[in-house]
Amino acid sequence: MDELLKQIQQYTAAIEAASPSGREQVEAFRIQYLGTKGIVKSLMGSMKDIQPDQRKAAGQALNEFKKLAEAKLESLQDANESAGEDDQKFDLSLPGDFVGVGTRHPLSIVRGRIVSIFKKLGFAIAEGPDIEDDWHNFGAMNLPEDHPARDMQDTFYISQNPSWLLRTHTSSVQARVMESQKPPIRVICPGRVYRNETISARAHCFFHQVEGLYIAENVSFADLKQTLYFFVQEMFGKEVKVRFRPSYFPFTEPSAEMDISCLICEGKGCNVCKHTGWVEILGSGMVHPNVLENFGIDSNKYTGFAFGMGVERITQLKYRVNDLRLYSQNDIRFLQQFTGAV
Ligand SMILES: [Zn+2]
Repeated sequence: MDELLKQIQQYTAAIEAASPSGREQVEAFRIQYLGTKGIVKSLMGSMKDIQPDQRKAAGQALNEFKKLAEAKLESLQDANESAGEDDQKFDLSLPGDFVGVGTRHPLSIVRGRIVSIFKKLGFAIAEGPDIEDDWHNFGAMNLPEDHPARDMQDTFYISQNPSWLLRTHTSSVQARVMESQKPPIRVICPGRVYRNETISARAHCFFHQVEGLYIAENVSFADLKQTLYFFVQEMFGKEVKVRFRPSYFPFTEPSAEMDISCLICEGKGCNVCKHTGWVEILGSGMVHPNVLENFGIDSNKYTGFAFGMGVERITQLKYRVNDLRLYSQNDIRFLQQFTGAV
């Protein structure tokens, strides 16, 4: 009995003096005194050696010792938890983590600008599938069977079914509009197109077009010119000059390519305009009567014009981008330059 009381006294003094800190030390304290093989359990085990008449007093002393150990553990755990809370407090004076906000792709910016200009003139947007059949891409557009554009060297055909192909222009969308709508028709067709080209600074296997189509009674070449003149002024500014050069396309007659005065040298001559003072920006013409008749549109009653431009080309002139590959390389140093562009 005396031995037990003496041990309790020593351990009590040790507990009162103990000052473990941190989660690990507090846990070690718990194991030492209150664990399954701890001091409290071991002292309880020695009760069997106590004389029966002294057991009550020894039990009380042991019970009090156990309560003391538990109270000490509780206060240590409380202190440790509140210290942990202090660790997690936010320092509001620290700068926050940077969250990068992306920018619109230059091609999206320019395509959006082109679309909004033609919307002002009452053009609706038409879209169609990237995978087309031969008829909508070539046949309906008056391209004969032996036209070089149909060559495997120029067009991606779907190997599982060679009568399907990746559209080479968005004229296929014009075809689908003429198939499903009656004149008057006034649409623009923005979209991605595909050509079997070797990738270089000046050519790519895919690029983006915006084509336009207007079919109604009494549509003339003067309407075509005025529409495109309005577009150029809205896109590049009032001071830009325009010229038309006769050209040939199977789906328009007469056909013309349109140049604008060089924005970089202002007509004096530079590398971009090949020292001519002019740069080509689009192809256009009056819709060929065969194309109208392909869709059951009376070519004696209706006339129309069509045009097509490359979005990459317009972007190149607007932002002076000199390598087509930059548009699809996802180089953030290039893309970040358009942060402020609208
Ligand atoms: Zn120039």
